[in-house]
Amino acid sequence: MLPGQTVCTQKDEKGKSCFGSLKYYYPFDADFGETDPNIRSQIAGQCGKDPWLKLYRCYSCQALYRN
Ligand SMILES: [Zn+2]
Repeated sequence: MLPGQTVCTQKDEKGKSCFGSLKYYYPFDADFGETDPNIRSQIAGQCGKDPWLKLYRCYSCQALYRN
């Protein structure tokens, strides 16, 4: 993730940037966390299973960003 980045830079198959807005995302939060166990284990493998881990997720394409 780039400094000050607020929009998604994922490109689609035509090379067009997504530009979806990025929202805070707490994958291990008890109430608002990720519900998909596959995504949870993937994030835990990359970032560790920190209950306060804060990521950003694109509102449009669901891409994840780490600050
Ligand atoms: Zn996106």
